[in-house]
Amino acid sequence: MFRCHFCQQVTPPRTTRHSVVIETREKTYESRRREPKRRRFQDREETGGDRGGSGVEIIQEVDACPECAAKHEATAKLQHTSD
Ligand SMILES: [Zn+2]
Repeated sequence: MFRCHFCQQVTPPRTTRHSVVIETREKTYESRRREPKRRRFQDREETGGDRGGSGVEIIQEVDACPECAAKHEATAKLQHTSD
């Protein structure tokens, strides 16, 4: 049982809860180099460390009933297609 973010209806028990992402942002992760440490043994090869990259970061995720989740998905898809 939960309250749908979109229609504000409290769903009946056993309703599938859909998580809908309503806000994202692009995130780039800068590559990081490991701080060189003074080591006693040089036999280990230094790993590359964090190479960084990019991705999408979820800002806000809400609970939605199946109906609203479907609607939200439909509108999200509409943005990509021009009639
Ligand atoms: Zn709803």
